[in-house]
Amino acid sequence: MFYDPLTIWSFTTFSTLLIAGVLLVSWVMWPGESALGYWGIAFVVTTMSLAGLAARGVVPAFISVELSNAALLLAWGLGWNGFRAFDRRRPVILLPAVLIGVWLAICQLPALRDDAVPRMWAMLAFTSLLVLLSIRELYRRRADGLVARWLAIGLLSLHLCALLARPSLLLFGLTTIDVEGNILRDPGLIVYAFELVAFQLLMAFCVIGLVRERRERQFEEAALIDDLTGLLNRRGFLTRTRDAVAAGGPVAVLALDLDRFKTINDVYGHAAGDDVLRLFARVLRDNLRGTDIVGRLGGEEFGVVLPGAETAVAREIAERIRIAFRHSGEELPMRETRLSASIGIATGHLPTLVPGEALAALQEQADMALYAAKQGGRDRVMLHAAGDRGAERPGGGLGAAVASRPES
Ligand code: GH3
Ligand code: MG
Ligand code: MG
Repeated sequence: MFYDPLTIWSFTTFSTLLIAGVLLVSWVMWPGESALGYWGIAFVVTTMSLAGLAARGVVPAFISVELSNAALLLAWGLGWNGFRAFDRRRPVILLPAVLIGVWLAICQLPALRDDAVPRMWAMLAFTSLLVLLSIRELYRRRADGLVARWLAIGLLSLHLCALLARPSLLLFGLTTIDVEGNILRDPGLIVYAFELVAFQLLMAFCVIGLVRERRERQFEEAALIDDLTGLLNRRGFLTRTRDAVAAGGPVAVLALDLDRFKTINDVYGHAAGDDVLRLFARVLRDNLRGTDIVGRLGGEEFGVVLPGAETAVAREIAERIRIAFRHSGEELPMRETRLSASIGIATGHLPTLVPGEALAALQEQADMALYAAKQGGRDRVMLHAAGDRGAERPGGGLGAAVASRPES
């Protein structure tokens, strides 16, 4: 023998404890991510299990065989629940508890008590079930596209293959197992001990990677959202719009601005003004589809892009928004003050190539139509007529703007 089994096993056990420490420290940094806690504790339990397995002959068999393996099942149960926790699903305690109970019960049968081989098969079956459940758990929410999710699935699959490899060799008589179940006299020990360290280290990376990847994505998304209304902010609006019109085609752009909003702020206070902004955002959301893009571009100015919409549809939607806002706000304190908004519309057909330029021109035209709506007395929808030059500044292009029929 070229290696000392006890040294190797001690190294594996100590590594497991270190990895547990890394996960638990990460959990302290991100206490909201209980997956880190589940996995950290799972590795602490694994450390105890590995120490117990190595103590065969030193401590009673009940501890070194039955309890140590039960601890391994507990660790896998925690790992599985860690993935559930990551996806914000409630923990399942019953199944791991039943598996542990069944394991402890069948260990009392003479056939298992006196022979390590059937014990190994039973443990393999229980462990494989928990590994497969973990894989299924990760796969269930694959739609979020987290890379670490697929890495963890790959890693668990590889580990399952490694777990199945040794019993398969045993089945074909290609290796032996100590009938006593003494892991330190096991010829497969060195491979298994190193595989275990590699698996655990990479698994910890995957779990921390999952948490990091999701948090980074949340930050990126938050940077595109307006805090007050929950709509897209200017950056988000421009980014989403660019993506949505990349293929070209018909599009409608709406520029929306609340009327005499400064007065609302002055009379009722800034907080009431904020409530009105939130109210308007709700009206927009209620009157638009999920594929439409809506953002707060600053102050009390909003933008809407309706991909695929022709002029008639755009005008209908804008009118619907205007009227809905006029009739909203019953719950707000400024009931006597009539809430209203002005809306400018520009529609066009974007070219497939460089649609961005044509879109910018449409946005400018929508702004001009909005300006015309303000000049025309507010609380109205104005359409920038096709054929007008986008370069014309508000004022110059006013005659081109066609007012919708104001109605309430
Ligand atoms: P008009 O009908 O011509 O659009 O008049 P207006 O008063 O709505 O327009 P103006 O641009 O003069 O005023 C916009 C006001 O919006 C001024 C600013 O104090 C207010 N405002 C900008 N951002 C916020 C905000 O986040 N919350 C609140 N409450 N008010 C805001
Ligand atoms: Mg305004
Ligand atoms: Mg304004």
